[in-house]
Amino acid sequence: VDHYLKQIEANKHLNAFLEVYAEEAQQRAEEIDAKIAAGTAGKLAGMVVGIKDVIAHKDHGLQASSKILDGFVSQFSATAIERLLAEDAIIIGRQSCDEFAMGSSNENSAFGPVLNNIDNSRVPGGSSGASAVAVSADMCLVSLGSDTGGSVRQPAAFTGVVGLKPTYSRISRWGLIAYASSFDTIGVLSKNVDDAALTLEVIAGADDNDATVSKTPVPAYSEALEFDTDKKLKIGYIKETVESEHLRPEIKEQTFAKIEALKAAGHEVEAIEFPLLDYLLPTYYILTTAEASTNLSRYDGVRYGMRSENATDLESMYKLTRSEGFGDEVKRRILLGTFVLSASYYDAYFTKAQKVRRLIKEASEKMLSNHDFLIMPTTANTAFEIGKYNENNILEMYLGDLYTVHANLAGLPAISVPNGVDSEGLPIGLQVMANRFEEEKMLAFTKYLQ
Ligand code: GLN
Repeated sequence: VDHYLKQIEANKHLNAFLEVYAEEAQQRAEEIDAKIAAGTAGKLAGMVVGIKDVIAHKDHGLQASSKILDGFVSQFSATAIERLLAEDAIIIGRQSCDEFAMGSSNENSAFGPVLNNIDNSRVPGGSSGASAVAVSADMCLVSLGSDTGGSVRQPAAFTGVVGLKPTYSRISRWGLIAYASSFDTIGVLSKNVDDAALTLEVIAGADDNDATVSKTPVPAYSEALEFDTDKKLKIGYIKETVESEHLRPEIKEQTFAKIEALKAAGHEVEAIEFPLLDYLLPTYYILTTAEASTNLSRYDGVRYGMRSENATDLESMYKLTRSEGFGDEVKRRILLGTFVLSASYYDAYFTKAQKVRRLIKEASEKMLSNHDFLIMPTTANTAFEIGKYNENNILEMYLGDLYTVHANLAGLPAISVPNGVDSEGLPIGLQVMANRFEEEKMLAFTKYLQ
């Protein structure tokens, strides 16, 4: 704990933590030391964890990096947090993120941008950018983030760490602030696959508080990380994702280098066609904004956090609270979502996108029943300059999510692992995607890959 507190202090300029629980963490560390001495410590004894500011932690602030939740203190803990604590992990603080997890750069936080620790003029990715930076700069051992369309994997790629997004429904969403409920998953950022596996095995599994969570038994992932090198795999890559002209050349080279290495090790790696590729981003942004506009309607000035001081009646309280409390990106998405859900456009956009999502899911599961894994880069580019995207070219930022939204649309598990650096020393991520509930196999394979 002392080590990480020092690191947090030394890296304050990165703006990663919104709050640090120094005394509480130190006290817990002492209690856990005693448990270790008594031989009664849990599986995660002493693991120092940082929490993205979208995951509830009883009696601690929680605000999704938004002004609209100023002053809000959670009355309960997320299931994932309870399970971490039950195994004696130590929570060191809560981390900034893009407001309500909407973004790819961590510039949309009400508390200012978070800086990439590798190059401070660049973004760390988003929306769990601070959670990735915290692991990369050794301010905690593991972070819990959330991944709706890449928010764990993309910042992991931009900061050179591991980012795991499990199968949808693998981890309870109880206590996770909702962005787009049918996409949201809690995910893990860590320095290596072993820590991700151990954390997942603790936090995953059935939970009476979340009706959507799977009852599929949780394997002991951390004990199954040995990859059987005699086993020859069949791996696919979507042709356009790896051969794309929009891919940074060095990312393309490093990805192909991995593909060649896998072939040399006797695995079959083949290019596959995926005709639905062009529909991934539109489908993602239609459905997630629709779900977001509904989910965020609960922030009305009555139930949570702030209330506008300028309100004079009920209606102005709603309007002013929301106008003053939400940032621009959140407003943009609420407007987009309200539009695609409106009576005259519902069928043209929302219903159509639901149908396309079903096709994407079925086609992806089919690809993964014929192949052990899909591999691809996590992102088309390495970390970009702070300020590169604004309201005039925001669509370009959305386009950057091409490789990560696929897993969320299909509900599949995916992981980003470091795959070298570009000529400027910026990390490159490699993504592996597996079929539903195949985390065990996926983790062992990615450990072998590294
Ligand atoms: N960048 C994507 C978005 O803004 C992903 C966000 C996320 O996974 N929370 O929607």
